[in-house]
Amino acid sequence: MEKAIVFKNIKKSYGSVQAVNGINLTIYQGEFFGLLGPNGAGKSTLINMLAGIVKSTSGSIKAMGFDVEKNYQEARHSLGIVPQELVFDPFFNVREMLRFQAGYFGKGRENYNWIDEVLERLDLTEKAFTNMRQLSGGMKRRALIAQALAHRPPIIVLDEPTAGVDVELRQRLWAFMKDLNQSGHTIVLTTHYLEEAENLCKRIAMVNRGKLVALDDTKKLIRKNSSKNLNIKIDSKDEQKVLKILKNFKVFIENEILTITLEKLDELNNIIVLLKKNKIKFFDIQTTEPDLEKVFLQMTKK
Ligand code: ADP
Ligand code: MG
Repeated sequence: MEKAIVFKNIKKSYGSVQAVNGINLTIYQGEFFGLLGPNGAGKSTLINMLAGIVKSTSGSIKAMGFDVEKNYQEARHSLGIVPQELVFDPFFNVREMLRFQAGYFGKGRENYNWIDEVLERLDLTEKAFTNMRQLSGGMKRRALIAQALAHRPPIIVLDEPTAGVDVELRQRLWAFMKDLNQSGHTIVLTTHYLEEAENLCKRIAMVNRGKLVALDDTKKLIRKNSSKNLNIKIDSKDEQKVLKILKNFKVFIENEILTITLEKLDELNNIIVLLKKNKIKFFDIQTTEPDLEKVFLQMTKK
């Protein structure tokens, strides 16, 4: 697999605050990648260093093989970055701003159709001639996403693009990003909505206090790190007996409901076998699904 972004032992300190503390991470071309972590974890600092907005204290970053400091132009060319903060040039209308932005990366008329497509996909067509400073907050957010995409970069990085935006834009944006990913673009996003990350991202990195605390395929990450709860309804007269039979598991009983924390899914089978062997009747079985939220809480409380 070809590399899209490589962070090599990257550090950033602000005075005594170690915002990013030695991160090594490679993101491959064509990935839909999630960067997660609590507030203040260092996600934006990492992305701003990638964008060349913030200078690293040490380490290096490459985008499509280009060093973001030594080969700034080439690296920046490969990247479309939507920053968390809303910063924009108030003097242009939306379409001018997009054409100007693409022009900055050497794209001219041949790129105009793409810009119109971006406007359409983000439902901005009607605002194409509206001045940036006259847009509402939500529309500004759309325009900034469009700005990052204007030069059709192979890598698209979105720093909490859906924080505080309405459901409609969220869905529209993700449909667009999925299509772009299908057509070969590398997508990297940070989000507070873990369900969103779970649904969209094939692979996830979790950062906490400037360090990488987890990196894996999303499904594996959830399977490996999160326990599933099993609830079984039994007869109250069997309660004491069941506690003995299942003494090797994490079990508690309340109101005839047996709750077992499964460390591994194959324990489920063992439990059923044990109950049957001891002739314990059970009336209902339910499991609660592990999800990214649980993994996240587990990883970030350490
Ligand atoms: P995240 O995006 O994960 O919420 P940030 O990268 O924004 O985290 O922040 C990481 C840490 O660096 C925080 O402790 C934050 O207060 C600090 N920080 C970020 N930017 C600056 C800055 N310009 N000056 C001083 N401290 C900063
Ligand atoms: Mg941030």
